Amino acid sequence: MSRIPVSLDPFLPRALNQRWEGALGADELPRVHAAALEGGPLLVRLTLRIVRGALGETRIQGTIDGEIGQQCQRCLQPMLWKCSLRPDVVVVAPGGTPPEVGDDQDVLELGADGQLRPAEFVEDEILLALPLAPRHESCGTGLPREFEAGPAGRAADSPFAILGKLKDRH
Ligand SMILES: [Zn+2]
Repeated sequence: MSRIPVSLDPFLPRALNQRWEGALGADELPRVHAAALEGGPLLVRLTLRIVRGALGETRIQGTIDGEIGQQCQRCLQPMLWKCSLRPDVVVVAPGGTPPEVGDDQDVLELGADGQLRPAEFVEDEILLALPLAPRHESCGTGLPREFEAGPAGRAADSPFAILGKLKDRH
């Protein structure tokens, strides 16, 4: 298990069957930060690995577990949106053609430099999953506030501190 690189070439033989693990926060995820409630929590834990699929295709598989501050669109109070995503995406070289994997398969075509940027990948996955109108699951039933939105820029636990706690458990 290695730390998440800033970028990697998923087609390099040495990338195959590698597994990366890390945590990302607002600084690494500026587009998610822009979509999050100002001053609220933003922490994403992720694992990524590159595998070879049954048709010889290269796949990025991973886990994205995030907690992101949002505003409930019913009561307008802060709420914590939790996501637990399990992306499984066929990756295609720049200008390449995807293998015949079916129309329902997610395909990611890399940019011209052929590099996968895990933070951007995670942002895309989260922004696709983010609800347009987030709501408390049991809004209006007198639940306590899930967190207090602090002044802008106040960081919650840093991702590295939380990663350290996770590591201590092993
Ligand atoms: Zn609510």
